Amino acid sequence: MPDEMSRPLVRGRGGGGGSRHLEASVAEPGAPVIGILGTGDFSRSLARRLVASGYQVVVGSRAPKRSVALFPEEAEVTSQMEAASQADLVFVAVFPEHHSTLVELKPALAGKTLVDVSNGLQINRDGPSNAEQLADLFPESFVVKGFNTISAWTLQSGPRDGSRQVFLCSDNSQAKSSVIQLCRRIGFVPVDTGLLSSSLEIENLPLYLFPSWRIPILCTLGLFIFFYLYNFTRDILQPFIKGDKRVFYKMPVETVNVTLPSVALVMLALVYLPGLCAAFLQLRWGTKYNRFPNWLDRWLANRKQFGLCSFLCAVLHAIYSLCLPLRKSARINLLNAAFKQVKDGVEDSWVDEDVWRMELYLSAGIMALGLLSLLAVASLPSVANNVNWREFSFIQNSLGHIVGGQDGCYGTFLVLSQLSSLPDTPS
Ligand code: NAP
Repeated sequence: MPDEMSRPLVRGRGGGGGSRHLEASVAEPGAPVIGILGTGDFSRSLARRLVASGYQVVVGSRAPKRSVALFPEEAEVTSQMEAASQADLVFVAVFPEHHSTLVELKPALAGKTLVDVSNGLQINRDGPSNAEQLADLFPESFVVKGFNTISAWTLQSGPRDGSRQVFLCSDNSQAKSSVIQLCRRIGFVPVDTGLLSSSLEIENLPLYLFPSWRIPILCTLGLFIFFYLYNFTRDILQPFIKGDKRVFYKMPVETVNVTLPSVALVMLALVYLPGLCAAFLQLRWGTKYNRFPNWLDRWLANRKQFGLCSFLCAVLHAIYSLCLPLRKSARINLLNAAFKQVKDGVEDSWVDEDVWRMELYLSAGIMALGLLSLLAVASLPSVANNVNWREFSFIQNSLGHIVGGQDGCYGTFLVLSQLSSLPDTPS
């Protein structure tokens, strides 16, 4: 990817070979003239896509001669003033700190639609947004915020290879409609987010790094460390201190494997606990119209992420369990047990209770994992969009409680198995 990104995004004029299909399109008569200010990566990719969709494109640069070779032949590269005068709709593909250098274009841009594609360097919570500042600089133009969530790469490779959604907002509905139309024509899906005051949120969108995952991931890690230390102390440290038994080899696989289901069970409990807290509070208040405290609100909103973390731990536990017999240590322990049995003259090691416990334990675990997979799949937006609210809540609530019950059984068998230290317990 770095090599690909270092290539010029658009082949120069007259460059043969490669994907010429985008440049092959000829501007449709009567199509609006689209101006782009700036000749950077974004401008070049956008120009290429607009030309391919039949638009007449005029690019405004401070040094047109220098940049002309980087644009498709069908696009005209000229001065900023000329581009602003010729265009019906203008994309401002210039960094926001340089917006002020465009003020001399004010008369040429008056009454026209300006599309602000800029992003911030860090999350801006207080405003004003770049688009609002641009609107203040050009009060006679109609500013539309949009396309900032689409990378130059996606524009170049087409919406097949990236997000198709373009979030748009503006205080002028006519200007917004013209950008919505353009957006559809170049193959993207416009999402109208209302007035220009939404632009702050649109500008912050590309800067978020999994905001709703932070607490669930921290909880998972915290629980993992807690249970790992507990299991390490109980199964490895204590035998070493008490009986000088060195079983440190258990640390990477066995101890991790015993830890994972505990984390999965607690995380699953954390999915359903906030619902119970909310119900309890509503009963106590005698009304459902009071606002929940902030911490409960956030917890309720993150239940899906808690559930998916639980699912991940359960899947890892299943994989680790399947791998247990593959270890050299397991095979050596098995052989030693067999030799010891022969030496002690024991003919049959079958213990009915242990065998039954193991069968039930595995069966409950498999069923719980299967149902948990169903819950995880149903939480995917593409699947959730295809079921109605009743079906969704049936899967997430009713089946969720069954999974909880299954997991409870599984957890009980797990604890019993550990207490009795069955030799062939998978965890
Ligand atoms: P870039 O490659 O650095 O290009 C910026 C262009 O701005 C320059 O090529 C320059 O063109 C022009 N410019 C005009 N006045 C300028 C001045 N006073 N000082 C410096 N340059 C000036 O940036 P870019 O990646 O295309 O990004 C442009 C805008 O698109 C930014 O606001 C960015 O946040 C937004 N954006 C970019 C991407 C992306 O993937 N690149 C994605 C979403 C949004 P001339 O020298 O020809 O005038």
